[in-house]
Amino acid sequence: MKKFDFLVVGGGPAGSTFAYLMAKSGASVLVVDFKRRIGTPVQCAEFVPLQLKYLYEEFFSDGSVVQKVKDMVHYTPWGEVVVMPSEGFVLDREVFDYNIAQLAQSHGAVYSLRTLFLDVEDGYYICQNVDTRETFKVKADVLVGADGARSKVAKLSGQSVRNYLTTAQRTYRLTQPVEDLLVFFRDYIPGGYGWVFPKGNLANVGVGVDVDYKLNPTKVLNLFVNELMSQGLIEGEPVKATGGWIPADGLLDVVRERIALIGDAGGFCHPITGGGIANAVISGSMLARALLEDSLETYEEMAKDIFGDSLSRAASKRKLLKTWENLETLIPKTWIAFREYYAD
Ligand SMILES: Cc1cc2nc3c(=O)[nH]c(=O)nc-3n(C[C@H](O)[C@H](O)[C@H](O)COP(=O)(O)OP(=O)(O)OC[C@H]3O[C@@H](n4cnc5c(N)ncnc54)[C@H](O)[C@@H]3O)c2cc1C
Repeated sequence: MKKFDFLVVGGGPAGSTFAYLMAKSGASVLVVDFKRRIGTPVQCAEFVPLQLKYLYEEFFSDGSVVQKVKDMVHYTPWGEVVVMPSEGFVLDREVFDYNIAQLAQSHGAVYSLRTLFLDVEDGYYICQNVDTRETFKVKADVLVGADGARSKVAKLSGQSVRNYLTTAQRTYRLTQPVEDLLVFFRDYIPGGYGWVFPKGNLANVGVGVDVDYKLNPTKVLNLFVNELMSQGLIEGEPVKATGGWIPADGLLDVVRERIALIGDAGGFCHPITGGGIANAVISGSMLARALLEDSLETYEEMAKDIFGDSLSRAASKRKLLKTWENLETLIPKTWIAFREYYAD
C-alpha cells in the first residue's frame, strides 16, 4: 500500500499544474495516468490565450509554442466575416503537457504511467497497471480528479456530464501562411463549428458537433475538409488524426467530501468554445492555493466566484443550440464574438 497526501488521477494540464504546485510546497503527490508518455497522443486544437504565458511562463519551454496568433476570424453562413481579437499561441501540446509534468517531477511529484484509476474500496484507492493488470492500493488524504472529459472520479463523486461536443480533427498542410485562428459556422456542423488553427505550414482542422444531433463527427469533418480543399486552403493527405469529447454542462460540484475535481473533469471547459487548457491550469492552481492557504472547501467558492457566471452563461447558451435553425439569429446569440451573446 502506498500513502500520499494527494492522489491525482490524470497528468494533463490540470493534474500536472496541481502536482507541480503542491510538490513544490512539500506535499507528497502521486499522479496516475494510463498514458505511456504525458502529452501523447494530443487530442486538441492546441490554442491557448496569451494570458496563460503571463501566469505560468515556466510552462512555456522551448518548443511548446508553434505559432503566435492575434485574431479569431469567423466565417458565417450568411457571408459576414467577424474578427475578434484573440491573442495567443497555438502550442505543441506534446511538449507543453510533458513539460508541466517534468516540472512537477523535478519537485518530487511521483508519476505512475500506464496506470488506470479504477475505484475506491474501504477508503483505499484502487489503481491498475494497464500492461501487467496488477492492481495496487493507494491511501491519500484527498483524491483529485483531473481525468478529463469522461472523468471516472467525477462519477465516483456522484456526478456525470450529459452535454458534450463530439469532435474529429486532422492536421493538414496549408497552401499558404495563415496568421489567425479561423472559425466556420456551417449548416452541416450543428450546434458547433469548424476550425482551422494554424501551426506553421500545418493546421489543425476540426469540427465539434453537439452530441444530441447524433452525427458521426468524422463524416462531418469530411464535408468540412472538402469545403476547405475546394477553397484551396489546405492540401494533401492528413499528417495526423484525432478527436475526443468536450464536456458542455458547465461547472460541476467541484468538492465532495475528500474529492476535488479540476480541469475538464470539473466542467471547467467552456461549453460553447470548447476551450479548456487555460481553465485546466487555472483550476489546478486554484485548488493548490485553496489547500495551501485555507481549505478544500475554499476551492469550491473560488471556482464559483471566478468561473461560475461565464460557464453557466455558456452552458445555458448551449441549450439554445439544440435546434440548428435561423442561424443568422441563433449564432450571434450563442457565440462569444457577438454582442448578442452577452445581452441577456
Ligand atoms: C478535438 C479537441 C480540440 C480542442 N481544442 C482546444 C483548444 O484549441 N484550446 C483549448 O483550450 N482547449 C481545447 N480542447 C479542450 C482541451 O483539450 C481540454 O480542455 C484540456 O485538455 C483539459 O485538460 P485536463 O488536464 O483537464 O484533461 P486532459 O488533458 O484530458 O487530461 C486528462 C488525463 O487523464 C488521464 N486519464 C483519464 N482517465 C483516467 C483514469 N481512469 N486513470 C488514469 N488516467 C486517466 C488521461 O490519459 C489524460 O492524460 C480541445 C478538445 C478536443 C477534444
